[in-house]
Amino acid sequence: MVRIDPTEMARGRKRKSATGTPTLLGIPFDANSSYLRGAAEAPPRIREAFRCESSNLWSETGVNLQADGAFLDAGDVAIPEGDAAFAAIEEAVRELLAQGRRPLCLGGDHSITYPILRAFGKHFPDLTVVHFDAHPDLYDEFEGNRHSHACPFARIMEEGCATRLIQLGIRTMNEHQRQQATRFGIEIVPMGELPALERLKLAGPVYVSFDVDVLDPAFAPGISHREPGGMSVREAIAHLHAVRGEKVGGDLVECNPRQDVSGLTAMVCGKILKEMLGLMLSGC
Ligand code: MN
Ligand code: MN
Repeated sequence: MVRIDPTEMARGRKRKSATGTPTLLGIPFDANSSYLRGAAEAPPRIREAFRCESSNLWSETGVNLQADGAFLDAGDVAIPEGDAAFAAIEEAVRELLAQGRRPLCLGGDHSITYPILRAFGKHFPDLTVVHFDAHPDLYDEFEGNRHSHACPFARIMEEGCATRLIQLGIRTMNEHQRQQATRFGIEIVPMGELPALERLKLAGPVYVSFDVDVLDPAFAPGISHREPGGMSVREAIAHLHAVRGEKVGGDLVECNPRQDVSGLTAMVCGKILKEMLGLMLSGC
């Protein structure tokens, strides 16, 4: 499932985690989507858009992603049926972390961030998570499912997989989730209070979880929950580039190719991926 060549493994072991090679990991899973399926089809669409010949592979941070060994791709996780899916995701991420890599996961619906961060939490006891999203994803349960894509950050905070959670772009807060946010001490920057570039001057290990629906659906219609009034692609990139600290990994989730228009959202995801990799490799 995650094949690593032995030379790379040996090199990976010697590296410090925060400087390990960023490694893509596709997670074609959308069984916990509450409204529309389709996010499981995103990883190949995002890879294709990322490499589209209409552009080049330089990030705006000045990093050439085409340079030999700049990043690696571990392929997709083979997802088993039923409850075993989360264990398979956690194990694939754990393997990469054990090899000194910096996993960057391509979803998939947002429920995958819980098993991903279970692996990260065991590796980094003082992890800060920066979460871009229209939604706080803090429901204790949603329609009877505690693993719904509406719940991952409740599970993550309950288990202590992250010590600090900063949410950006939120514009669907309700009373239950506000209580959950208070209970877990979550730092929320609602969409209306952006920009918040100064809030992202962090230290220590930092993980970035990017739900594409943080963007205005005018820029990224290929998502399951279109919530108008969101970030422009430029605002999202400005906030990504402002993140300081050791960027140890991240995810890009909720792209839904079945809802996309002319591959536009896949291209936006390709761009965001380029800038996430650029951020991880820029050394800032
Ligand atoms: Mn989400
Ligand atoms: Mn969302």
